[in-house]
Amino acid sequence: MRDERWLHVSHAPNDGNLRAGRCQFTGCHASTREMKPFCPNHVAESPYVKTILKTIRSRAKQVKKIAGGGPVPDDAHLFKELEQYIRTKGQCTIEGLAREFHLPSIVILRLVKAMSIVRFGKNIRKSITVEIP
Ligand SMILES: [Zn+2]
Repeated sequence: MRDERWLHVSHAPNDGNLRAGRCQFTGCHASTREMKPFCPNHVAESPYVKTILKTIRSRAKQVKKIAGGGPVPDDAHLFKELEQYIRTKGQCTIEGLAREFHLPSIVILRLVKAMSIVRFGKNIRKSITVEIP
């Protein structure tokens, strides 16, 4: 049986060249549902899915480097995500951020240390806290 979940991630941006209801993968003539550009077998060929997979891979690579003690890259898009989250939430603990971002505490700590706008503190349970004043 086909995995229906994949059908919902195939919303590729309309490039003006969408053949309605036919898979765009070369050589595949399967019909698609709801005008999707790719059939479930070729949804990974969609530019949208490719972009997401690339982002996930580059993020995983970055995290691995940072966890291993490598330099924290200036352009890490984790910075933006972290900054936005801390600004919205207010004071956060390193452990809380680690849980929220599904990252090891050491990676969070190294990232927030590289953010000059973050102020460190400790809460009553002696956990390291961060906030952006
Ligand atoms: Zn196909």
